[in-house]
Amino acid sequence: MTSKKAVQIVDMFIENRTKHIADLQRPENDWGYGIAAEMVKHDIERMTSEIGWFKLLRKEIAPPCKHPKKMHDICGGQKYCMNCNMDL
Ligand SMILES: [Zn+2]
Repeated sequence: MTSKKAVQIVDMFIENRTKHIADLQRPENDWGYGIAAEMVKHDIERMTSEIGWFKLLRKEIAPPCKHPKKMHDICGGQKYCMNCNMDL
């Protein structure tokens, strides 16, 4: 299913951005108050807004799973739907 791949790409993007923000915000990264700190602040704002848009997009291409419970299974502690492969 094509949309499943699209969802994976969107998820990868969200994960990547989330990780990048977390990296920038690590306490050992003291960006001070100069240009670097301003750039980091803008980067975080931009990526946060991107994450918001991609979450909206994800909702559009992957509406919540409505398959019956008997289609649900657990893999590696993560509940998912065997029919649409969506994490639940
Ligand atoms: Zn489903």
